[in-house]
Amino acid sequence: MKKTERVWMEISTENLRHNVKALKKAMPPDCELMAVVKAEAYGHGAYEVSKELNKMGVTSFAVATIDEGIELKKRGIFGEILILGYTDVCRAPELKKYDLMQTLIDYEYAKSLNSQNIRIKTHIKIDTGMHRLGIPGTEVSEVEEVFAMENIRVCGIFTHLCCADSKRPEDVAFTKKQIGSFYRLIDRLKKDRIEIPKLHIQSSYGLLNYPELSCDYVRAGIALYGVLSSPNDETTLKPDLRPVLSLKSRIILIRSVKAGDSVGYGRSFKADCDSRIAVIPVGYGDGIPRNLSGNVGSVSVCQHTAPVIGRICMDQLMVDITDVKEAEVGDIVTLIDAKGDWELSAPAIAQKTGSISNELLCRMGTRVSHVSMV
Ligand SMILES: *Cc1c(COP(=O)(O)O)cnc(C)c1O
Repeated sequence: MKKTERVWMEISTENLRHNVKALKKAMPPDCELMAVVKAEAYGHGAYEVSKELNKMGVTSFAVATIDEGIELKKRGIFGEILILGYTDVCRAPELKKYDLMQTLIDYEYAKSLNSQNIRIKTHIKIDTGMHRLGIPGTEVSEVEEVFAMENIRVCGIFTHLCCADSKRPEDVAFTKKQIGSFYRLIDRLKKDRIEIPKLHIQSSYGLLNYPELSCDYVRAGIALYGVLSSPNDETTLKPDLRPVLSLKSRIILIRSVKAGDSVGYGRSFKADCDSRIAVIPVGYGDGIPRNLSGNVGSVSVCQHTAPVIGRICMDQLMVDITDVKEAEVGDIVTLIDAKGDWELSAPAIAQKTGSISNELLCRMGTRVSHVSMV
């Protein structure tokens, strides 16, 4: 890493490759991995991750928006890319031009896309109880009409589980109901002699908790990046997943403060003894949650843990290195650690802030632009 970098992400290609293999082993043999690389591959760098996955033979991807899809196609990512979210139908020419697959978010949307007179590859989304996107699973005739639409080429049909991460009996019952209603719809379509396209239901937790389903794809996001959403989640399958992302920066300034001096906005930290404070050029503008302020968060420096003190700023944060005598300006600081420091793992940090790894990681994707594949 160049000395000039303010902050960077290290992406472990070895762990990414390991996770792909671990997930494939957990999947039925004829099921394919659809790598979910939306929101900059959960902050890991969509292009860098997709390129690495291409090298491993992964050729199915999912993104959230058309622009994410276009970016990957323009940069030469090979394979099918499914847009999971909404795209204005006036962008149908771009869907065609970049050979993207669009999710049909409801029946009216399908009709509207069909009326653009451009033949588009699509997957039909079925709402089985999440009540976000999709044609209700009970609306058989609507689904069948979509199959008959002239400019709609149906390549897949799928649903999304809304509580597959939970082992609570009522959540398991609800998930089974969702799965049941999806297959009931598929059976009806079969009876009506509709040629069934690719089927998919499971995201990461869908696979980990309902591995017995046999679909054409698993849409894996968070598990691909080697972490669970929350540290204490119990799952049926426990594949050996390894975190992929580390976030690193450097000490740019060290200052000594006297007992009683305050540090940072609002003077929320007051030194109770003479202290050595390091300034790190990373803040909430880079995706570090502000509520890690005031001793909640910590970083690793010279193999020691140093607490975050005072309030995290937009572009800087301060840590107390009084006990890390050997720390010097220029030393590398680890903020998120893929290498086993549990306190600095994404799930542990996310939990401290009342969130999930998914949110923490995808926020890294905005200003931390430098991705280093290691
Ligand atoms: C984001 C997303 C996924 C991936 O979810 P993970 O829990 O990260 O595996 C799968 N399917 C849909 C529809 C999504 O929006």
